[in-house]
Amino acid sequence: MKKLATATGKEKQVELSPIHDFASKLRQPGILERLQDYVRWQVEWRAARTKGVPIEDLFSKLPDQAPLSINLDVTTSCNYACDHCVDFEILNKNIRYDHEKLLTSLTNMHSKGLRSVILIGGGEPTVYPQFTDIVRHLKAMGIKIGVVTNGSRLDRILEVADLFEPEDWVRLSLDSGTNETFRAMHKPKQKKVTLEWICEAVPPIKAKNPNFNIGFSFIIVWNDCEANEAEIHENVDEIVIAAKLAKDHKFDYISFKPFLSRAERNNAEIVGLTQEEERVDPVMSKIRTEVNKAKVHHGDGFRVIESTNLKVLENGSYMDYTDQPRNCHMQFFRQVLSPLGLFNCPVYRHVKQAEVSDKNAYATLEETRKTQESTLRLIETFDAREECKEVTCLYNHVNWYIEGLIDHPERLEEMELAPDRKDYFL
Ligand code: SF4
Repeated sequence: MKKLATATGKEKQVELSPIHDFASKLRQPGILERLQDYVRWQVEWRAARTKGVPIEDLFSKLPDQAPLSINLDVTTSCNYACDHCVDFEILNKNIRYDHEKLLTSLTNMHSKGLRSVILIGGGEPTVYPQFTDIVRHLKAMGIKIGVVTNGSRLDRILEVADLFEPEDWVRLSLDSGTNETFRAMHKPKQKKVTLEWICEAVPPIKAKNPNFNIGFSFIIVWNDCEANEAEIHENVDEIVIAAKLAKDHKFDYISFKPFLSRAERNNAEIVGLTQEEERVDPVMSKIRTEVNKAKVHHGDGFRVIESTNLKVLENGSYMDYTDQPRNCHMQFFRQVLSPLGLFNCPVYRHVKQAEVSDKNAYATLEETRKTQESTLRLIETFDAREECKEVTCLYNHVNWYIEGLIDHPERLEEMELAPDRKDYFL
């Protein structure tokens, strides 16, 4: 990975956008009590720990909750071979769920407070044969859903588009403005899959249901980025045409994010750069210029969005997001369920030390109880200060916020509800 310098002297903290203001999300009506229950448990556990009490002795008092939000990897299969895929090593493993058990798991989680599900990676969700069945099941329970897809099976999104509510969303990972770059980066296995072909499938979905957001995601790749031991294709020159393409095809927004790689030490997803050089790297300047030019397309209901990762990378404050408290509390509120197991964080799909349980973690209420215990045990043993010290973690703020509440439980009584945005995505 090429070293990318950051701007000297720009120490400012990037303000979290509303979708990343997780502390407010946890104070919404119906959610605040859950946060308070968790904090009270932690306070009691820490007091007991100082007296040498084993954690198991407090399990009878554990908060009877499932995560508020999960990333659900429905399959490890994928019909592309993207050279920049962060999940390359776990694709096409032929490890599957028992579909009925998966449905029951989601029902059990819903009964314990699951409010949102992101159908996402480790494979392409829309190629899961029962994809539409999963969507129907989740929407029948009133769960908010997001889908992150490569766009190759938008016919399946169209089939269930009428079920989507305004808080639901679909995001397409396209990362290019020309078909040549698209095919070089993503290597779709079928010839018919072109960038144009995918984009043309979006307006019919919007026509069927205009009331939810469809986004065009663009991961910015610059020269000398490397992944999976291969040099990958630069796309900085296509930032502007991608924005036009997205707008012309009725996407609601395009979002730009920097390329992530995996840390050698523990396989965590990280912004792979250093801040050794004390000048603004020409690559970052070029990215800034192109993103600014793309903003000409902002307006008329279309948004050009810069990810928080891109902003913190540019202003040099990304290191502030790598200083985690010892306990990561977010693993209580958000987990990743995959055919490979249940993991504590999207950064650690299939990483052994981040594994909470197996794929049937919530398949029965008895298993659910055991998983609640494993979760609290992992919060205790997983040292986020060490494990996540290279990760630009957007949950950093909320983890410190919860840590502050545990240190000052008297604040629990004074906590005020945040506005109800019905945004339960974590
Ligand atoms: S501290 Fe951040 S990166 Fe680490 S496990 Fe928690 S949420 Fe994930």
